[in-house]
Amino acid sequence: MIFRGPDGVGKQLFGRGLAAVVNCRDRQGERSCGVCPSCRKYLSGNHPDFTILRPEKGAIKIDRIRELCKSLAYPPYESAMRVVLLEDVHTMRQEAANALLKTLEEPPENNLLILTADSSQEVLSTILSRCQSVPFYPLSLAEAAQVIKLYADELAEGEAEVLARLAEGSPGKALALKHAGLPALLDKVVDLLCDPAGRQPDKVTKVLLLADDMASLKEDLIHFLSLLRLWLRDALFEFYGIEDDSEESRVRVGKAKRPPKDWSSEELFAKLQAIDRAEKELSRNCNRSLVCEVLLFALQNEWVKDPSNIEM
Ligand SMILES: [Zn+2]
Repeated sequence: MIFRGPDGVGKQLFGRGLAAVVNCRDRQGERSCGVCPSCRKYLSGNHPDFTILRPEKGAIKIDRIRELCKSLAYPPYESAMRVVLLEDVHTMRQEAANALLKTLEEPPENNLLILTADSSQEVLSTILSRCQSVPFYPLSLAEAAQVIKLYADELAEGEAEVLARLAEGSPGKALALKHAGLPALLDKVVDLLCDPAGRQPDKVTKVLLLADDMASLKEDLIHFLSLLRLWLRDALFEFYGIEDDSEESRVRVGKAKRPPKDWSSEELFAKLQAIDRAEKELSRNCNRSLVCEVLLFALQNEWVKDPSNIEM
């Protein structure tokens, strides 16, 4: 079987669950019991008939595939079925994939192979044609938020919903963004932008420090800009009094703080354009810190409109 879908929507988790069900000795309908000796071994991560092969340094290596194929020739140690989970097979190079083909076509008896792959990445057609494909999809925002609440600790009110929205229904991605500290940083940036006493010289220092924090997000910086965009987009919706009933619009980001009432729609659009510019510059590999500094200064529109506001 091959599970294909976006990153972080539960393909691996489901694979593990399925493995436990297959060998459970006291199956409860479609579920594993969770307490039989086999289930206990799965839960402790020490089942002798369950193997996980995952990318090392970005790819599943051909040597590991060869080892695996050899080991499948022996019968399972104690279970009816040996289950092998091959994670992220889109990372396999051609040679590694070729080494797997024969086993995929005619797996030795009592072996179940479950492959997972990111749907945004190419998987060799020779692999796909030998597997039963099971598609995975992003979760609804409510479902994703529920999963996030299960796995994340210290969530602020409404934060799970914001993360779910930012990660487009992928709890795995949402948890990674949380781990990278995006929501906390958004709060700081929003504080800075909404600070009415924004003309003090120490604000420059604050901007530079925040720009540094943003730049150190590295690959996640682009997600942070999306988060900032969501916050401004919500503000714009509010400005025009738009209320649509879509699930997405009900989840507001940065709930605690709304932009100051005196921001005009022109200003909000100008800020969104500043984010566009920053994204373009990042895609051209411009210096991250510099891009963030310019963006933060641009977002504080009163300085842009009237440079004499800066008291150095
Ligand atoms: Zn069981």
